[in-house]
Amino acid sequence: PYDVLVVGGGPAGASAAIYAARKGIRTGIVAERFGGQVLDTMSIENFISVKQTEGPKLVASLEEHVKDYGIDVMNLQRASSLEKKDLFELELENGAVLKSKSVIISTGARWRNVNVPGEQELKNKGVAYCPHCDGPLFEGRDVAVIGGGNSGIEAAIDLAGIVKHVTVLEFLPELKADKVLQDRLNSLPNVTVLKNVQTKEITGTDNVNGITYVERDTEEEKHIELQGVFVQIGLVPNTEWLHDTVERTRIGEIVVDKKGSTNIPGLFAAGDCTDSPYNQIIISMGSGANASLGAFDYLIRN
Ligand code: FAD
Repeated sequence: PYDVLVVGGGPAGASAAIYAARKGIRTGIVAERFGGQVLDTMSIENFISVKQTEGPKLVASLEEHVKDYGIDVMNLQRASSLEKKDLFELELENGAVLKSKSVIISTGARWRNVNVPGEQELKNKGVAYCPHCDGPLFEGRDVAVIGGGNSGIEAAIDLAGIVKHVTVLEFLPELKADKVLQDRLNSLPNVTVLKNVQTKEITGTDNVNGITYVERDTEEEKHIELQGVFVQIGLVPNTEWLHDTVERTRIGEIVVDKKGSTNIPGLFAAGDCTDSPYNQIIISMGSGANASLGAFDYLIRN
């Protein structure tokens, strides 16, 4: 059996595996797609100490670093269930069962898509999901934020300090964000809020050049010219496959303590799949290292 089995090969999983392997213990990593969300990222400018890089380039260095240690990398393998018997038993979709004394889950998350024409085609060409990451790329431009919940309004406030103008599009007749956020938003001069509107299309050929929406009460179709669209309608953790094996929040995030432990002894979690409040590469890496040290601590006591 493994001493530490990591499920997920994004920044959290890679970091957890390296920290475990450096303790000289048997470490494996199972990933549906090594690199995770970083593979889908164009420009990265907030990975501290590296001024600018690209997702695939960072993933290549991650892979090289992981391969420098005796870590079993099982890429293109999807975990389908986890059970704790004497040891943890992780079942893969191909039917194989891997056994381990401890497990670190780092299966990350995915942004919810609006599923309108233009979204997939213009991803990274003006369609963005992370204001902390991509906001500065739109300095002086006009952008829209789709979604009027807390994350949408936080994004709009954040972007308003960087871009020329922000239009918020909310499907419902009212914003769902906390009142303090709404008050802050309403105090800003360069924000327009459109309620009760349905996004119909994100337009553009090489890059985003506008957004088309329908006013739901009048059914009138309108178009605004702009250069960026931030989709902020939720981040979904990739934890459905765990069902009730571990405690999760209402939206499916794995609940962890300061050492990254879950409610099951020997089971740890790190990165975007947990209930940690901010989702960034550097935070996920720290979280993976933390959970790995937590797992090592568990192993020497059991
Ligand atoms: P992920 O990167 O999501 O990795 C999850 C891993 O788990 C993957 O290997 C996946 O294949 C695997 N997995 C999932 N389910 C299973 C399963 N059932 N079995 C096996 N494996 C599974 N952050 C920044 O700091 N700076 C940026 O500039 C930036 N830009 C971004 C741009 C985009 C378009 C996106 C989507 C995100 C961006 N982020 C950025 C956020 C950052 O990418 C994430 O916070 C970070 O990747 C989270 O790391 P993670 O390891 O927790 O999860």
